[in-house]
Amino acid sequence: MYGILDNLNDDLGLELNLPYDIFAESFNEGAVKEGDAVSEETLASLIYTKEIECPVCRAKIENTLVRESKLRLSHMEELRPVYRDFEPLCYDVTMCTTCGYAALKDRFEIVSDRQREALLQKVRMNYANFMPVVYPAIMDEKMGIERYKYALLTGCVKKVSLGERAMLLTKISWLYKTLGDTANTHLFTKHANDVLTQAYESERFPIFGMSEATVHFLLARFATNLGDYSRALRFLSLIIVDQSVNIRLRDLARDMKEEIGQVKDE
Ligand SMILES: [Zn+2]
Repeated sequence: MYGILDNLNDDLGLELNLPYDIFAESFNEGAVKEGDAVSEETLASLIYTKEIECPVCRAKIENTLVRESKLRLSHMEELRPVYRDFEPLCYDVTMCTTCGYAALKDRFEIVSDRQREALLQKVRMNYANFMPVVYPAIMDEKMGIERYKYALLTGCVKKVSLGERAMLLTKISWLYKTLGDTANTHLFTKHANDVLTQAYESERFPIFGMSEATVHFLLARFATNLGDYSRALRFLSLIIVDQSVNIRLRDLARDMKEEIGQVKDE
């Protein structure tokens, strides 16, 4: 069903640090939130397409991008901006619908000769299942999630950093949260936590552009959501006592500490 990457999952499981089948879970249909419908015209005005060349198979592809200046911020959900009527996260992954290669949009064109060779080899290996994927210009959260999963799979073939994998997993968990799918939000929060923890222990800062304090904050958020409050408090205190961390992040850390205190008191 997922075409060219069908056989990749098993390969990736052991050798590439993805000990789970990321396409195995199903969407929790009943949990989708009913919001006020926004017209297609409004949505279409927020995006535009640009033709680019796939750095792996050299096909010409239409890449959909967001007109960020037109987005209206609703509020910040800690480190994540939430916009009115629009979810730009659905467009964060650029994907070649011809060969299945996908990556976060800023990383899409960064492919070394060796990575290209590895990706092409996987493409050839899976040629029997080849089935180009088609996405509409306006994408919803489910399509967004699917594209992140392609980015995760091909990212493993590319052997991208643990930090980059953790970012993909984090964004998948955020999109599941937007859909109100608690089971998958929890599952991908756990995966994001595992991979970011490995990155924290083995990679140098900044980890995929994130400062040490930002990583501490994300790990604290994951731990809180997963119910491991003592771990969360350890990371939060590292942020709160560090005078070099910006005030906003320290305030967010204090808020989370308070939130944990309230949960523990209940
Ligand atoms: Zn391609």
